[in-house]
Amino acid sequence: MSANVMIELIGVRKSFGNTEVLKDINLSVARGSVVALIGPSGSGKSTLLRSINLLTVPNHGFIRVGAQALDFFGEHKLPGDRELAAFRAKTGMVFQNFNLFPHMNVEENVMEGPVTVLRMPKTAARTLALGLLEKVGLADKAKAHPENLSGGQKQRVAIARALAMKPEVMLFDEATSALDPELVGEVLSVIRALAADGMTMLLVTHEMAFARDVADKVVFMRDGRVVEEGPARQVIESPTQPATQAFLSHFHNGLGPL
Ligand code: ADP
Ligand code: MG
Repeated sequence: MSANVMIELIGVRKSFGNTEVLKDINLSVARGSVVALIGPSGSGKSTLLRSINLLTVPNHGFIRVGAQALDFFGEHKLPGDRELAAFRAKTGMVFQNFNLFPHMNVEENVMEGPVTVLRMPKTAARTLALGLLEKVGLADKAKAHPENLSGGQKQRVAIARALAMKPEVMLFDEATSALDPELVGEVLSVIRALAADGMTMLLVTHEMAFARDVADKVVFMRDGRVVEEGPARQVIESPTQPATQAFLSHFHNGLGPL
């Protein structure tokens, strides 16, 4: 195991009923790097991300995040709650639909995890929350309620909330797909800043220009398999596999100057 690899998957398989949606996935994300996961709808991208956080439990394979590893080879059962919680705590996840707590204001949303899970005193959690809100450009919205925020602002709160748990890696599942086009940029800017800070990130995205410009590596999935992976610019601009070429041909109008 290489300490330089922060996320490692070996031979990961997942079936729902008789349908195998992850077929022998091998994937690694280097420490401090950004990997973009692309591919058509239904190819298993969300299931892969959810497996890393054990929101979905694989049927087979090995998963490591930082120093925590779990293996699902042969006979295995789900780890106990404590081990599961420790494993999940390493990973911050941001979803398409924000999932903010509607009855809490912005600051309380960000404080919730540190206070209830990490047992952080409220004053310390508030200081942490305000610092993170500053970082995502929302210091002035600390007392606002989610219902009064734009989608882009809600998503930036969701990112601050995930960061409050001090994760070692961040996973983004189509974090900008639910946003109006004019709000996408503000969320991508925050992700770009996290990348510049050296956060290890795996992101599912349909923003191909962003993947090309910000990711170190792009992984293309189809039908539960990794079809092609390589340096971001190479995969996006000159993919070698026909399936990758066909997929990317749908985006070329929106890619901007190459
Ligand atoms: P993507 O994110 O690439 O669109 P998903 O990982 O969401 O793909 O889904 C991959 C396949 O797994 C799809 O065919 C989907 O219908 C199926 N699937 C995902 N989650 C479940 C589930 N909980 N139960 C049954 N099938 C599922
Ligand atoms: Mg998905």
